[in-house]
Amino acid sequence: MSNKFISHEKLRDWLEDLSARFEVWAPVNTGQDAKGVVVYRPFVRDGALEFARKPVESAKHTVFPRSETLVNFKTGAKDGKPALELHVPEDPPARAVFGLPSCDARGFQIFDPVYNGSGTQGLARDNYYLRRRNATVLIVKACSKVLNTCFCNWVGGGPACTEGADVLATELPDGFILAQVTARGEAALGSALLAPASDSQEKQARKLHEEAGAALCAPPDLSASVSALRGKFDDSAFWEAEASKCLSCGACTYLCPTCYCFNITDEARGVLGARIRSWDACMLPLFTMEASGHNPRTGKIQRLRNRIGHKFSYYPSLHNGRIACCGCGRCIKSCPSSVDIRRIVTDAIGITGTAGLKEQKNG
Ligand code: SF4
Ligand code: SF4
Repeated sequence: MSNKFISHEKLRDWLEDLSARFEVWAPVNTGQDAKGVVVYRPFVRDGALEFARKPVESAKHTVFPRSETLVNFKTGAKDGKPALELHVPEDPPARAVFGLPSCDARGFQIFDPVYNGSGTQGLARDNYYLRRRNATVLIVKACSKVLNTCFCNWVGGGPACTEGADVLATELPDGFILAQVTARGEAALGSALLAPASDSQEKQARKLHEEAGAALCAPPDLSASVSALRGKFDDSAFWEAEASKCLSCGACTYLCPTCYCFNITDEARGVLGARIRSWDACMLPLFTMEASGHNPRTGKIQRLRNRIGHKFSYYPSLHNGRIACCGCGRCIKSCPSSVDIRRIVTDAIGITGTAGLKEQKNG
């Protein structure tokens, strides 16, 4: 399929058209002015869409909700014996997420082998994740500006990377050029409102991609991260120094597009109840609390070591070298103590004077 174009004036018409077939989500400014927080919300025609600033949160919750009911239950008795009625929620509607950055789409690729049963850990298929994942079209918006916290190119991505995207949208001065990437993306582009993209628009898009890519600093070689972090495991002086500023607030884990841990709780009132899955965060002290009362990670040093080790050493060891971080930089940007994951990894490897930690052109 040739590339399509939608003008800024017609964008809301197209998203409304899309809403007939999908539950559409898009970045929205939730504040009263240009400083408001940008987050993903279900599309409404008169909503405050915003594409100029990167959303504070990742798009993870559009596929993996912060909290979801796995099963509703009712307890009772039948023929004098205890009885349990179970009701599994209906399949979620098909979704289209418009305007997420490329790093957020790549984040789902780190989820996939963990939840689709293809990983090397012998994990079961998670049908709750998979039914949403398979019903979601990801319309990535290429980044035209990079932040000084962005480092997607350190981990194999880039501002216009199509890995994980179903459609790549590039914003031009007068609208968006839309390039189909996967077969799933075709369903989102079947609209009479879309015009064929011109050669000149294609050229402008390629130029923007090149400029954004060039604004990122050259990436360091992280190929030694797996062995370097294993080698640092018992180096408590190293972890004490790296974790000294951490407040154990958990913001880094909650905002991360690649953190996939969850907790399950049963909540009941009378005879009715629900089994609920909610995000959990390994940076929080109770994450590893065991039923016996023993907690193997009571200190923030152990928790930070686990978080960094998981992303840059243990996960790649199990998944063909793939690093479990997409370089979105949210954990750096939103950390109240300025803990910088790039610095920890490069310190562990022994890379000094890292080019990637310098100010980036558009930072
Ligand atoms: S956001 Fe910063 S302070 Fe909070 S847990 Fe993460 S590293 Fe620690
Ligand atoms: S670890 Fe930080 S930079 Fe990497 S994906 Fe998570 S939030 Fe983004």
